[in-house]
Amino acid sequence: MRTARLTSLVLAVVLAVVLAGCGRGGVEGAPVFREPGSSTGSAAPGARTGEPASGKQADRGNAAASAAATPADRGNVAPAASTTPAGGTTPAAGTLALFDAHIHYSQDAWSQYTPERAIEILRAAGIRKALVSSTPDTGTQRLHALAPDLVVPMLRPYRSRDDIGAWTRDPTVVAYVESTFRRGVHRGIGEFHIVTGDVATPVIRALTAMAIREDLWLHAHADEHAVAELARSDRRARVLWAHAGLSSTPQAVRAVLDAHPNVVAELALRGDVMWAQDIDPSWRELFLRYPDRFLVGTDTWTPSRWEEVVSGHERTRAWLTQLPPDVASKIASGNAERLFAPPR
Ligand SMILES: [Zn+2]
Repeated sequence: MRTARLTSLVLAVVLAVVLAGCGRGGVEGAPVFREPGSSTGSAAPGARTGEPASGKQADRGNAAASAAATPADRGNVAPAASTTPAGGTTPAAGTLALFDAHIHYSQDAWSQYTPERAIEILRAAGIRKALVSSTPDTGTQRLHALAPDLVVPMLRPYRSRDDIGAWTRDPTVVAYVESTFRRGVHRGIGEFHIVTGDVATPVIRALTAMAIREDLWLHAHADEHAVAELARSDRRARVLWAHAGLSSTPQAVRAVLDAHPNVVAELALRGDVMWAQDIDPSWRELFLRYPDRFLVGTDTWTPSRWEEVVSGHERTRAWLTQLPPDVASKIASGNAERLFAPPR
C-alpha cells in the first residue's frame, strides 16, 4: 500500500514537472507560470514556437492517467446508457454517461482523425455530450455538423497556434471572434489562455462584454489569480475554469469557488484527483462541498491525446464511483447538462 502511494506520488511529481516545463505557446494544456504583470506569451524564451507539441510530451503529460487505449480497448467500452443512477447506487464504472467539458478538434488532428473517427472515439468513451473548440473554428463546425446531438460548440479565439501566445494583445482577435460567432450554435468563448493582468486588455474586455451580451461562457485556462481577476471583472460573466487551474491546489480551487459564485471548474488533465486507485481526500471534500460546480473533461490539445480519451475516462469513472451517487452523477454530466442546456 505504501509502495503504491509512493509510486503515485512519484508519478504526480513527474507530471507536475513535465507540465510546468511547458509554456502556453508550445502546449495548450500546460499551465502558465509567469511573474504577475509580465507580458503575455513570454513564459520562457523560445517557448512560443507555434509547433505542435510532440507526441512524446503528450504521453509524458498523461503519466498520471491509465495506460493509453489500444484499438482493442475501444470496442470493450460500453457506451453509457443513462446519466442518472437508478436506485441510489453508484452505477458500474462502464455505464456512467459523461459530459466532457474539454475537447479540441484542431487543425493538427484533422489529417489523422477524420470527423467520423473523432466522433466514434467520443462515443466509445461513453461521452454523451462534449464542449468542443478548435484552432481554427472549422474543426468544431465539422464535428457539430456530423453529431449535433453530441457536440456543444465553443468558439476558440485562435486562428492558428501562433495566436496562443500573444492573442490578448492582438485587437484583430476580436474581429475574428465576432465574425466567426454563430448565435444559437456557440455556447461560449474558449478555451483561451490568460495570465494575471490580461483581464485589463481591450481584447479581454471586449470578449467579456460580448459573452455577457450573448449569454456565453468564458472557458479560461488560467491560474487561480488570473481566473479570480476575470470573475471579479464583471460578476455577470460566467466562467468555466479550465483544468481547475491545472496546478492549483484543492485549497486554492476552494478559495476561488468560495469567493466567486460565477465560476465553475472542469477537471481535464487533473491526474491528482486520484492517487493509484483512491480518490484524493482533499478533492473529495471539495466535490462534496461544491457538488454543483465541477465538470469532467479530457483536453485533446495535441493529436495523440485522441488515443487517450477512452482510457482517460475509464480513470474518470474510477474516481467518480468513489463519490456518493448523486454527486458522481452531477459531476459526470448533470452539472454540464444544466449549465449548457440548449437555449430556448
Ligand atoms: Zn485545452
